[in-house]
Amino acid sequence: MNSIVIIGAGMAGARACINLRANGYTEAITLLGDEYLLPYDRPPLSKASITQEDEPQPVWLMDETIARELKVDVRKGIAATGIDPREKVVALSDGSSVSYDKLLIATGAKPRTLPIPGIEHALTLRNHEDSLALRQRFVAGRNIVVIGGGFIGLELASSAAKRGCHVTLIEAQPRILMRGVPEAIAAIVHARHEKAGVTVLTGVGLSHLSQDAVHLADGRVLPADTIISGVGAVPETTLAASAGLAIDNGIACDQHMRTSAPDIYAAGDCASFLHARLANRRIRLEAWRSAQDQAATAVENMLGGAKEHITVPWFWSDQYELGLQIAGFAEMGPVTVARKPNEDTLILFHLAEDGTLAGASGIGPGNAIARDIKLAEMMIAKGIKPPADVLADPGQQLRPLIKG
Ligand SMILES: Cc1cc2nc3c(=O)[nH]c(=O)nc-3n(C[C@H](O)[C@H](O)[C@H](O)COP(=O)(O)OP(=O)(O)OC[C@H]3O[C@@H](n4cnc5c(N)ncnc54)[C@H](O)[C@@H]3O)c2cc1C
Repeated sequence: MNSIVIIGAGMAGARACINLRANGYTEAITLLGDEYLLPYDRPPLSKASITQEDEPQPVWLMDETIARELKVDVRKGIAATGIDPREKVVALSDGSSVSYDKLLIATGAKPRTLPIPGIEHALTLRNHEDSLALRQRFVAGRNIVVIGGGFIGLELASSAAKRGCHVTLIEAQPRILMRGVPEAIAAIVHARHEKAGVTVLTGVGLSHLSQDAVHLADGRVLPADTIISGVGAVPETTLAASAGLAIDNGIACDQHMRTSAPDIYAAGDCASFLHARLANRRIRLEAWRSAQDQAATAVENMLGGAKEHITVPWFWSDQYELGLQIAGFAEMGPVTVARKPNEDTLILFHLAEDGTLAGASGIGPGNAIARDIKLAEMMIAKGIKPPADVLADPGQQLRPLIKG
């Protein structure tokens, strides 16, 4: 094999380059990125990049020195415009093309667009430029309306409130964080936003947007200097679909992160895959560590391995002083056990009917819950059935449970 091409210079793309070299691959790597920057980290874009005093710089995942050391041919500002899976060639936006022996598609996701009149008045957040644009608009005293009570919307509401803006967050569902976050934890987040002065409106429909206002379905009008739409993301599958690859809530991969086309793999937010821990149910994750883990699996298999992608998903969000973390598959655990180490910290363990730990979710100041969630993640990975009374008792250590 003498050429590996990676489309998408984000977390999965950068991690793939690093892992290829770490796994001993010495031949050509081409990394194609349609942004004009080297790969950088996205989580700070809704957090520190907005709240910090100094002008934010991208947090590089691969800077010039590392790219040189790894001998990666990074093509910045170059989009892949077509894939010919039969000829094994990728067409590029500058009119040239590049051949591959193995191809990794890591094109990420893009903000979902709300189908309402006037949506062009709303800003979205996905990249460094978007974050700079929002930061400029988050001036103390201004009215910011955030549409969407998911992670990005809530983190932006928190960042705008920290900068002294008047923030209103609207959510169509009956509560914030409906997807994947237990109600008790969402309630703590909700209360913290209200304490910071954010007006959180749930169960609210939209009529339309105008340049300086959000018009609700019930006739209310919310004045807005800036409107942000944070209603989730959709996988970037355009290229893969036009190359004839199977698409199913993302680029459809098997357990090995292989797509439906020979020698083409996918990883990160753009990819869905069959998860062995979920009886091979197809899932797609939008999470920083999942993008890295999937890239690692794809690389191992591109180099001849046969590794199944079975890692336990893990996600975090920071809002105000609160750290929220989720590990595993809460929906697989109908039995919930609460652990409350103190007034402002809560961990919920989600047990399957047979007592196996399926998921854990926690919230608390700073890193308060990090260790217990990490231990929960290890128990989930090992398929451990922890005693509920130990989980519920903050006086008892969780570490001994890992031994099973
Ligand atoms: C604002 C924000 C905050 C986040 N916060 C958290 C958090 O707190 N915790 C957490 O776990 N996760 C968080 N995430 C999610 C995490 O950042 C993503 O899951 C991760 O970036 C996914 O990596 P990726 O490589 O799949 O995609 P991306 O990082 O999106 O990279 C994909 C790259 O491919 C490029 N591309 C697309 N199409 C083409 C093409 N045809 N040719 C060339 N290049 C192309 C894109 O422009 C992009 O640069 C956050 C995401 C955002 C946007």
